Amino acid sequence: MQKKTITLPRLSNLSPTMESTALKLMEEAGELAQAIGKYRGLNGETVDLAEEQVMAKITEELLDVAQTAVSMMFVLEELYGVDIDKALGEHIDKLAKKGYL
Ligand SMILES: [Mg+2]
Repeated sequence: MQKKTITLPRLSNLSPTMESTALKLMEEAGELAQAIGKYRGLNGETVDLAEEQVMAKITEELLDVAQTAVSMMFVLEELYGVDIDKALGEHIDKLAKKGYL
């Protein structure tokens, strides 16, 4: 099984809640969709960036999504006692059962 492992920090100087991080996650997902729509020409505008620049912008937005997802995981752990490591194991098991691995 090929894996991609990323490590993202717990952001300090913020007091996130489940609701604020969930909203932020949707906001960042929207920015990712907007970047793809704009820079892949889906909105009909001419794209005058090289593909490498386009992919850099899309990657930047994707990492914002990942950072916000990780921030929400910290909230679930710290405010609600969720065991993310255990949930991650169950997630992998679910993928295996569905035949995705
Ligand atoms: Mg963003």
